[in-house]
Amino acid sequence: MRSVDDLIGEGVSGRRVLLRADLNVPLDKSTREITDDGRIRASLPTVQALREAGARVVVAAHLGRPKGAPDPQFSLAPVAARLGELLGTTVPLAADVAGSDAVARADALGDGDVLLLENVRFEAAETSKDDAERGALADRLATLADAYVDDAFGAVHRKHASVFDVAERLPRYAGRLVARELEVLTRLTTEPERPYVVVLGGSKVSDKLAVIEALLPKVDRLLVGGGMCFTFLAAQGHGVGSSLLEADQVDTCRRLLAEADGRIVLPVDVVCSPAFAADAGSTVVDAAAIPDDQMGLDVGPRTVELFAGELSGARTVFWNGPMGVFEMAPFQAGTRGVAEAVAAVSGLSVVGGGDSAAAVRVLGLHEESYGHISTGGGASLEYLEGRELPGLAVLTD
Ligand code: ADP
Ligand code: MG
Repeated sequence: MRSVDDLIGEGVSGRRVLLRADLNVPLDKSTREITDDGRIRASLPTVQALREAGARVVVAAHLGRPKGAPDPQFSLAPVAARLGELLGTTVPLAADVAGSDAVARADALGDGDVLLLENVRFEAAETSKDDAERGALADRLATLADAYVDDAFGAVHRKHASVFDVAERLPRYAGRLVARELEVLTRLTTEPERPYVVVLGGSKVSDKLAVIEALLPKVDRLLVGGGMCFTFLAAQGHGVGSSLLEADQVDTCRRLLAEADGRIVLPVDVVCSPAFAADAGSTVVDAAAIPDDQMGLDVGPRTVELFAGELSGARTVFWNGPMGVFEMAPFQAGTRGVAEAVAAVSGLSVVGGGDSAAAVRVLGLHEESYGHISTGGGASLEYLEGRELPGLAVLTD
């Protein structure tokens, strides 16, 4: 896999570079203001390196899930403004993805200039399952540049036109963020320093069963919290009240518990509430004694202690998924406790997942306390599952 630094070494001054970046930031629903610009900041090193080398940078990115047609709600305009602020320059936004305005603006770029294309998902072909449809968009994107750099780690698990097909049409390179994410994920999968502890939470167990299967043979401990722990508790024969439960996954969870031979650690207590609400009241109960009319919305204090104990001696930690509904104050303590215990790890600690990374920031923990906070939740999980990621495979010769 060649890197953007190889491209710079080849001499990139005056050449147009199509840079796929992950600028998919959360926006405030009413004001359209960016609420967390972490992904824009993470993309800066590659953009800066290209500018300094005199490249003419054409950035392609997506925002949210528009329905394959232009929609002002999903315009990258706020992102262009923020990117310009952070770079200390003006970043114009093309009116289209690879249409006449994009072509004219790309042609007019000077050395070191940056242009942002409008949301690539305004083109239905971007996410199409049809190779020819994606290929036609990739052809148009490829005419905008002489080389392609993929730095959109959060999108490398997608076989999309701007991630996969366009890379087949131009000399291709990995950006610095992609390189950094890969370096860290490689350390998690090849001879991780032991003890190796993985903490999984979040809402849907079915999303994460594949990664549990893949990691189980490799880890010393797998700590399970969040909404997904209730399917495991049910597999142990406990009632879980009205907590999240994926009944069709109970058998799989039971098999995994048997295979794990004690290495899967479940909560011993749970913060319950009669309703999914911040003001309905909460009580801490034994994980084996959740009342029928209550739902578990966080792990309890004894669980935090148990998990923190498992984490204290760890040399390698991967954490994905909040321990509870951290968006509501009464159910934050579990996620906070685990986030603090992960931050205190002396070896390599990696946080993956959009909500987990958001929790770290919302709860006021210091990002520098972690070895790495991944910008791509789905991509990092699929990598750990051992699946081939199309956006990475296409960069590899
Ligand atoms: P990530 O984005 O880090 O991969 P997920 O998307 O899998 O994480 O899950 C995050 C969501 O899980 C959060 O919105 C959180 O409120 C929810 N969650 C955590 N614990 C529970 C629970 N006990 N019941 C319901 N939802 C939960
Ligand atoms: Mg999420």
